[in-house]
Amino acid sequence: MYRTHDCGALRMEHVGQDVTLCGWMQTSRDFGGMTFIDLRDRYGITQLVFNSEENAELAEQAQKLGREYVIRIEGKVRERSNKNPNRPTGNIEIEVSKLEVLNASKTPPFTIEDETDGGEDIRMKYRYLDLRRPQVQNNIIFRSNLAIETRKYLAGQKFVEVETPFLIKSTPEGARDFVVPSRMNQGQFYALPQSPQTFKQILMVAGMDRYFQIVKCFRDEDLRADRQPEFTQIDCEMAFVTQEDILNTFEGLTKYLFKTVKGIDLPDFPRMSYDEAMKRYGSDKPDLRFDMEFTELNKLAKGHDFPVFDNAELVVGICATGQADQFSNKDIKKLTEWMQRPQIGAKGLVYVKMESGGIKSSVGKFYSDEQLQGWADKMGAKEGDLLLILCGESEKTRKQLNELRLEMGRRMGLMKEGDFKPLWVVDFPLLEWDEDSERFHAMHHPFTSPKKEDVDRMLSGDHETMKSLRADAYDLVLNGSEIGGGSIRIHDRALQSRNFDLLGFTKEEAEAQFGFLMGAFEYGAPPHGGIAFGFDRLCAVMNGQSSIRDFIAFPKNNQGRDMMIDAPSPIDSTQLNELSIELKDKK
Ligand code: ASP
Repeated sequence: MYRTHDCGALRMEHVGQDVTLCGWMQTSRDFGGMTFIDLRDRYGITQLVFNSEENAELAEQAQKLGREYVIRIEGKVRERSNKNPNRPTGNIEIEVSKLEVLNASKTPPFTIEDETDGGEDIRMKYRYLDLRRPQVQNNIIFRSNLAIETRKYLAGQKFVEVETPFLIKSTPEGARDFVVPSRMNQGQFYALPQSPQTFKQILMVAGMDRYFQIVKCFRDEDLRADRQPEFTQIDCEMAFVTQEDILNTFEGLTKYLFKTVKGIDLPDFPRMSYDEAMKRYGSDKPDLRFDMEFTELNKLAKGHDFPVFDNAELVVGICATGQADQFSNKDIKKLTEWMQRPQIGAKGLVYVKMESGGIKSSVGKFYSDEQLQGWADKMGAKEGDLLLILCGESEKTRKQLNELRLEMGRRMGLMKEGDFKPLWVVDFPLLEWDEDSERFHAMHHPFTSPKKEDVDRMLSGDHETMKSLRADAYDLVLNGSEIGGGSIRIHDRALQSRNFDLLGFTKEEAEAQFGFLMGAFEYGAPPHGGIAFGFDRLCAVMNGQSSIRDFIAFPKNNQGRDMMIDAPSPIDSTQLNELSIELKDKK
């Protein structure tokens, strides 16, 4: 037997027992004749003691151990005189009688503890060392538990786990595809799936009824802080269901996961239409851990000879409770500059401070105190509050105010750890008009069904009508992050053709790319719909973290590189020749 216990197992009740432990040497301290070693494995840390007076040779051997040496020891459990209440094994230590070095280690390039001195790049290069840090290890174990519980829940609801292929055909789902050249079919390419969307729909045509898969998806997007080129979804599809059935099933899954993995009971999830979310929060994924809802001020603010407001399509503001004296004029100036950065692009920021000594405002010249008090009343503001107001073109202004709302929420400490506020956002628009390409894009994806009541308008309406079509599409939002999204699908060939048509596909293009799906729709496709959860994001949000990278065992960095294996990398000319690929000379 290699070991009798792991490094997290021993307690007072084991005192007096002979044990054998294995693990990595985390730290070593010498105190006049005594050497103390912290031995670590996945389960915890146990303190080892070597007494040079009792066994000089053994103590000397212990002093020679370097950090991260892999050792095996035999010894007796004894009560510690100097207890460590912060550690589950902190009441005991092992008086070592035998020490065996199983493997030596080079000195690691950073300290392997929760608080590490290693920067991101070095930790990614030596990810196997980073993964020894308890915090990172716990994230990966959390993820494992979440996947196991997901399978349990869905299996209990009669879902069947089906694997769909990774080598598929390039399809436009919003992002760029990663492509894989085919050696056997020269000049042809597979694409890695952005999601198993068409396959899961085909599985419904095949009568599978309830499908799920915890599956890798690949999107060749420009990387943002919380994006990975490959990520994992809990991907699901159901036949003979309405939107209501899907929302209930996956609200059930989310509640189950919170309960079993975190011990948290979530209340029923509120629902909000896309339009309402945009109006009240300027976002289709509002963070509901705090209020600070938008108030429109067009009626009160326009028509008072303040041209900036008079010329704006929308004047809209938020009330930051109790913040009037927290923001000096200098702070407001800084906040204004923050809002004017190109990422946000606000033209300016108007403030009204409801101070005890009176009202102060950047537009005090244009409005009387009574008028400003009128704004405050409409916004539900009281003495001590700070009103922040933006104006301009409606959609843009709402988006800018959303950024400001989130920033104020952060600064005011309103995004509380351990607070979970889920929300279903429903009734998304079907199509989105893109000014640049002068084309409609599918707001969710091209397979999403319009609402029943909008089908006729979709089949026969004009251009403007298309902008107002609503879809049976929904997102699950948690603390301001979109953690799931899905829709009821089109299951009728003619309607699917019409959608491709609206999206700018010619008949031939639609046939070439999606002929297989439309063909399948001609053989008895049941009504169906589904959803996919971003599994990495769900892990992060459930732990109050913003980076999904911390929940992926081997993530890519900001440049899409795997620093450990150093990928992507060139391939040799033999491989290139086999694939008939000629590289352009790099100048
Ligand atoms: N395939 C979709 C996505 O990846 C999810 C769905 O509609 O089920 O967002």
